[in-house]
Amino acid sequence: MNINGKTKLLGIIGNPIGHSFSPQIHNSALSHLALDYVYLPFPVAPAKLSEAVLGFEAISLVGFSVTIPHKQAIIPFLKEISPLAQVAGAVNTVCWKDTGWYGTNTDIAAFLSPLLSLERNWQEIVPVILGCGGAARAVVVAAQELGCPSVHVVSRNQDKLKDFQASWRSSMLQIEIQIHSWESIKDLISQTALLINTTPIGMYPVVDISPVEQSFWENIKPDLIVYDLIYRPSPTLFLQEAAEQGALIITGTEMLINQAAEAFKIWTGQTAPIDVMNQELYHQLCF
Ligand code: NAP
Repeated sequence: MNINGKTKLLGIIGNPIGHSFSPQIHNSALSHLALDYVYLPFPVAPAKLSEAVLGFEAISLVGFSVTIPHKQAIIPFLKEISPLAQVAGAVNTVCWKDTGWYGTNTDIAAFLSPLLSLERNWQEIVPVILGCGGAARAVVVAAQELGCPSVHVVSRNQDKLKDFQASWRSSMLQIEIQIHSWESIKDLISQTALLINTTPIGMYPVVDISPVEQSFWENIKPDLIVYDLIYRPSPTLFLQEAAEQGALIITGTEMLINQAAEAFKIWTGQTAPIDVMNQELYHQLCF
C-alpha cells in the first residue's frame, strides 16, 4: 500500500472496533486491485457520533461502514437512506453523495445470498430468529424479501422484545412479527425449517456455549436450515450440533464477505475480489 496525498479515505465506525476484520478485508481487496484508497478503523463513542460524522465530511471521506452500536443512531445524520435500510431502521454502509451522506444496508442482501441458492418454498416457512438486536432487524427484512409470511422472534428480555415488535409499527414492514420468551425455543425449533442465531452466544472467545440445549436438536425437521451470523468461530458449537443431527448449516462468514463486497462496490465502483477477501478472512480467523 502506497499512501500518498491523493489517497482516498474509507473506514469503519464502532465501539469497540478492535475486533473487526473489516480493515484487513477491505485493504486486501483495495491492494489487490491497486486502488488508491485506505480503509481505517475509527473507534467512536456514542456521544461523539455527531462530531465524527461532521469530521468525516470535513476530511472528505468517501464512505464508511457502521457497526455496533451505531447502526440505528447514525440515521439522523444522513441526508438520505435506501428503502430497505429505511424499513430495517438500520444502516451499515454510508457514502458521500453530491451534498450529503447516503446510507444503505448491505447486511440484508448479504444474509439472503446463501439462502437464495437453496430450493425451498419460502412462502410456507416461518423462520425462528434468536435475539432482537441490530442484526435481527436485517434478518426480519430479509425474511420479508424471501416471501416468508411471518417470523418468530425469541429473546431473553421481554421488554426489549416488545419494543422490537413495536418499533416496526410505523415502518413499511408487511411481515408479521410474533414474539416469544426464551423458554419457547425447544418447541419452535421442532416446528421450523429455518432457525437463525443473531445473538453473540458462542462467539470467540467464549466458544464452548450454544444458545440452544443439545437435546433440542433431537426433534428437528429433516430439511431444517440453521444459520448462525457469528463468523468466529466458523462453525460455532450451535452449528456443529445442528449439523450432527442432519441440519443444513450456514456460517456467518459468507454474510460478512458479501456485505463487505457490496459496500466496496458502492464506494469504489469496482466489483470486489471476493476470493481475495475470503482468503484474508481465512488468514485472520486462523492466525
Ligand atoms: P446486538 O444489537 O447487541 O444484539 C444482540 C442480541 O443478542 C440482543 O437481542 C441480545 O439481548 C441478545 N443476547 C446477547 N447475549 C445473550 C445471551 N447470553 N442470551 C440471550 N440473548 C442474548 O448485536 P448485533 O449487532 O445484532 O450482532 C449480533 C451478532 O451477529 C454478533 O455476534 C455479530 O458479530 C453478528 N453479526 C454478524 C454479521 C455478519 O456479517 N456475519 C453481521 C452483523 C452481526 P439483550 O438485549 O437482552 O442483551
